[in-house]
Amino acid sequence: MSALLRGQMDTTDMNLPSPTPKSSDPARLAADIVDRLTYRIGKDATVATPDDWLTAAVLVVRDRVVERWMESTRETYRREGKRVYYLSMEFLIGRLMRDAVTNLELVGEMQEALGELGVELDLIRELEPDAALGNGGLGRLAACFMESMASVDIPAYGYGIRYQNGMFRQELSDGWQVELPETWLEHGNPWEFERRESRYEIGFGGHIERDDADNCTWKPAERFWAEAFDTPIVGWKAKRVNTLRLWRAEPIDPLELEAFNRGDHMGALQDSMKAEALSRVLYPADATPAGQALRLRQEFFFSSASLQDILRRHMAQFGRITSLPEKAAIQLNDTHPAVSVAELMRLLIDVHNLDFDTAWDITKRTIAYTNHTLLPEALESWPVPLFEQLLPRHMQLIYKINARVLREARATGTFDDAQVAGMSLIDEHGERRVRMGNLAFVGAHSINGVSGLHTELMKETVFKDLHKLYPLRINNKTNGITPRRWLMQCNPGLYNLSREVTGDSIMSDLDAMKALDTVAEDAAFQERFAAIKRANKDRLAGVIEKRIGLKVDPSAMFDIQIKRIHEYKRQLMNIVETVALYDQIRSHPERAWAPRVKLFAGKAASSYHNAKLIIKLANDVARVVNADPATRDVLKVAFLPNYNVSLAEVMVPAADLSEQISTAGMEASGTGNMKFALNGALTIGTLDGANVEMREHIGAENIIIFGLTAAEVAEKRANGYSPEEVIAASPELSQALKAIESGVFSPEDRNRYADLVAGLRMSDWFMVAADFDSYAAAQRDVDGIWAEQPRWQAMAIRNAARMGYFSSDRTIRQYGREIWNVIN
Ligand SMILES: *Cc1c(COP(=O)(O)O)cnc(C)c1O
Repeated sequence: MSALLRGQMDTTDMNLPSPTPKSSDPARLAADIVDRLTYRIGKDATVATPDDWLTAAVLVVRDRVVERWMESTRETYRREGKRVYYLSMEFLIGRLMRDAVTNLELVGEMQEALGELGVELDLIRELEPDAALGNGGLGRLAACFMESMASVDIPAYGYGIRYQNGMFRQELSDGWQVELPETWLEHGNPWEFERRESRYEIGFGGHIERDDADNCTWKPAERFWAEAFDTPIVGWKAKRVNTLRLWRAEPIDPLELEAFNRGDHMGALQDSMKAEALSRVLYPADATPAGQALRLRQEFFFSSASLQDILRRHMAQFGRITSLPEKAAIQLNDTHPAVSVAELMRLLIDVHNLDFDTAWDITKRTIAYTNHTLLPEALESWPVPLFEQLLPRHMQLIYKINARVLREARATGTFDDAQVAGMSLIDEHGERRVRMGNLAFVGAHSINGVSGLHTELMKETVFKDLHKLYPLRINNKTNGITPRRWLMQCNPGLYNLSREVTGDSIMSDLDAMKALDTVAEDAAFQERFAAIKRANKDRLAGVIEKRIGLKVDPSAMFDIQIKRIHEYKRQLMNIVETVALYDQIRSHPERAWAPRVKLFAGKAASSYHNAKLIIKLANDVARVVNADPATRDVLKVAFLPNYNVSLAEVMVPAADLSEQISTAGMEASGTGNMKFALNGALTIGTLDGANVEMREHIGAENIIIFGLTAAEVAEKRANGYSPEEVIAASPELSQALKAIESGVFSPEDRNRYADLVAGLRMSDWFMVAADFDSYAAAQRDVDGIWAEQPRWQAMAIRNAARMGYFSSDRTIRQYGREIWNVIN
């Protein structure tokens, strides 16, 4: 049979038929759009809705992407090179239209083509739903990495789950968060290709059969299909197009006819419903055992499907399983896919018949792991009984791996029993649990942190002893952001202005932004820079009014904190400081206050009580402050609902001040901090995560740093600290906390915030009280700089100029050289 009919890429037969390249001439594009509208969507131009035009336009752009996609794939086969596989539970990709059009360099052409048809590109672009397949920074990082891998020409696949509903959509009801299903697939998804032929069986439960030669076969009790959906990811200038492959669960028996005919109509659909649950939502509430089981099932589901796919591709091209580490680099984005360590071992031993030692060597040389958090509650672990029940063969292998690791630890003679217990893959305190972080660590040749500080803390805390045992594994790869989305697309004004000074290379070399330093003090340049910021603020003011009906003054300082709501990120400290400022303004109306608009956005995890209360507090404070005529001209507060990538793209370019105020030692890196600085906002922040390195690059004189260091936080926690004393010593903080806890902002429920404030008074784990005065003083420094506009503008320009290091192209090149060995 020919390679064509086998559907298998054959590297010896490259005389395959190729499509005729599609023209990108505007007239041709316009004709193609009408063609898609007519023949694919079945609509006449006279009755087509804006959604129809969007779909038609996407299909036309997609055609241009597909050509390069196929070229990239063929080229990868030809090169016989190594591929990178990025496994992530989340890909927060947002809208894809602008990304594809800019990276294909077709913006002008598409605008012209649609213009001829009487359709505005910018208008229909806004109709594209956000692919909200992620929760926050970790998912957005995966999306930036996919774009950068294509941009720096690394053959790569992203693997994840095609959630039908993704992350919940947030609405506010009377200031409370309400969670609704995100229906992003409602109108179909024109970017993706369903690959019915690429499906794998995924098992759960059951038992293990052992033959005379002691070979094991896992006989799962439940089985599903994982079916592939591919989305092309276009690199800068379409240099390369990579694949994001997302799995959807499908029943093997969609309908048990026998049960159906018996009259058991629901029972007959059981398999379908179980499959549907697997790829339904991101982060099912895991407060219940059923929720926990579903989460572990999801993790195994996409890990297993991805590994089967990787091994299938490897064997088809290279025919020899032992060369896997030379041809495949598997990166685990956090512990969510950590079960891959055990699943790869199972596939190598049970399916490819390797012995344990060989399999273990291959696994470690292939897999690498990125750690994203030191928070103990976020380092996943699963109850042993649950694990054993769902994945009996994997549990067996984990015990075997564990025995080996602990033997190696004991052999060094340097660890006591408690240290060995800490390194174990099984947590024996109380209910026995499988530690996924430790499993990922021991099964990987590289464990990386995501900022310099985070990596050092990893060596001293969570992985202290494993680091001693395997001292060469931990390394740092400071996060980055893609400048295509986070400058060029979201802030075309600043991009175009910058290019007048920097030349055209900045999108492939963000370090070239450095040239802006030379014009930082130039009055004419400052004026143009400020005018662009102002236009971005006007646009955001329009969005605020449209979404929540609040009018804000675009000439005021836009002070923005947008990120997941979490106590360690300290939105609460920002709100308390807002209350203190409100008090101050009312007490001293005669002072020249810098007018501010305080903006918040972010989602709270559905089971996180305090985070939801903090959202309500922000809204309660906003209601009181915004209605007070005494502060009307100087202070406004707003919480914008449903924070996602598209909202970030509007808010980031409009920020004057970026709030990066996490408790030092708790934010692994942050990437929001990078987006703001690149877009010319000043940062007020702690020495946490990547803020530390941002200060080094931007210069300490161009960033406003305050608060305890990570070491000081650790010291206070270890030696005990009295928040009550700190509060008593700060009149501003005392007054603000009293107002909040006594119900000034919640007259209809005076006790609403009593527990929240009591938490600050009693333990203050996140050091809100401890850092308050330092934060408030830093805010007054910010006011002082704002009053000297030329100084502010010069600082803002230097921020944008000096963020080159934080391009995800740099991050990815480091992964490529130092972890994956795919570039020299
Ligand atoms: C960048 C980004 C994040 C991460 O923000 P941090 O401030 O680093 O926590 C989260 N969500 C969205 C939508 C983002 O674009």
